[in-house]
Amino acid sequence: MLEFDLDKCEEYGGCGGACLNRCPVIHLKPNYARVEMNSALDKMRKGAKSPDPSNIFIKCAACFSCNQDYCPAELKPMNLILKLFAQRYEKQGLPGQGRFFLPRSEPNFWTLLQGQKEDAIYQYLSLDERKFLKDLRKPRKTSEILLIGCGAELTPYIFNINLLNEYTKGGREFCCGARYYQMGLFDHFTQIAKNTTDLLHSLGVKKIVCACIGCYSIFTKFYPEFIKKFDFEVVYLLDELQEKIKKGKIQQTRSLEGMTVTIHDPCFLKLHPEKFDLIREIINWTGATIVEMEHNKNDSICCGLGGIGSSFDISTVQNQVMRRKMAEARKTGANAMVLGGCSSCAPTLGFLTNLSKKDFEARMDIFHVIEMIQKATGVVPANIHYERGKILRQLFFEQLSTFTGKGKNRKLEKTPKIKLKL
Ligand code: SF4
Ligand code: SF4
Repeated sequence: MLEFDLDKCEEYGGCGGACLNRCPVIHLKPNYARVEMNSALDKMRKGAKSPDPSNIFIKCAACFSCNQDYCPAELKPMNLILKLFAQRYEKQGLPGQGRFFLPRSEPNFWTLLQGQKEDAIYQYLSLDERKFLKDLRKPRKTSEILLIGCGAELTPYIFNINLLNEYTKGGREFCCGARYYQMGLFDHFTQIAKNTTDLLHSLGVKKIVCACIGCYSIFTKFYPEFIKKFDFEVVYLLDELQEKIKKGKIQQTRSLEGMTVTIHDPCFLKLHPEKFDLIREIINWTGATIVEMEHNKNDSICCGLGGIGSSFDISTVQNQVMRRKMAEARKTGANAMVLGGCSSCAPTLGFLTNLSKKDFEARMDIFHVIEMIQKATGVVPANIHYERGKILRQLFFEQLSTFTGKGKNRKLEKTPKIKLKL
């Protein structure tokens, strides 16, 4: 699954560490980049006896950019990095902050926001959102299901809309495990993959529509490698919505001509380069004008979520990733940034932006691409990303001590198997 030829990397002359030099986040000068990669090779071979490759362990956002075409020897350096994350986890366990962001390891952000029990009070959410989440918890037999993605359960207002009414929806119970994969937590990833596959079979699902590019990627590129009977048709929601636009089933009633937007390409989109244009075609259809950021498409800077899995420290991610992303977006002169079809970027940017007054004051409007479609059809989207981020921030600081209280890194407990009451 994670191939990386250590010898070939070591022997390859003249690359200057192109992978970490071109990396949009770490971006080291050529010789420093090669030294850092040599340190990563050494760490992989010698483990604890070798010092940490510090730039990688602090900054890497597991963003997939370097696994595409950065390496002249056609190696996939992110595979090496994920192996190093796995090695580190085996040795050290997981710091408390890492746990907030793991959807199937409770307590976490989801249980803080929604409560831990079925009859939770959902005190931070609107009545509509509460009903939406309660309905998600009551799955029924269906041949087709729209999986909204774990991050979407932190922002149900994006997906609880008329445009998506026709779909039977599934939530966090159907976690694809992407966050676990990006953090090198492979045993947990495998458990989750098996559980989710069993759940989908138990509902009689034949077709999965993925609202989140993370789920789409994991289901299409990763599961087939090790889940014997992953025999579902998997499609990406934005492909379906574009098809409806082309057939006139979704009609534009309002042109967004006056808007100039820049596009945030989420990390998993890099595994499906053909979909970079899909997002842009949808935006063109709305009438909005696109201005690209310096780092876009395969070179896009992560929203910040991926970085939490390497440093486990939100202030590092705030500094090294989110601020750079937002600064690039503002530099384009766009009125707003459109988040391209991942369910986690909106809550992450909302949360990280709320960590400091300065970032909050410098924020720019963000819209999920689905909200852009809503706008073009004359519907005003809820668009409360920063308000939701403020609640997440409050919960984070209120509860931080319960996550880090023992002051020690810990191994995660086995991911519980979910059985649905049908
Ligand atoms: S992965 Fe490729 S670019 Fe990076 S150090 Fe190794 S050979 Fe060089
Ligand atoms: S995965 Fe992304 S952040 Fe990490 S080293 Fe590669 S390009 Fe840089």
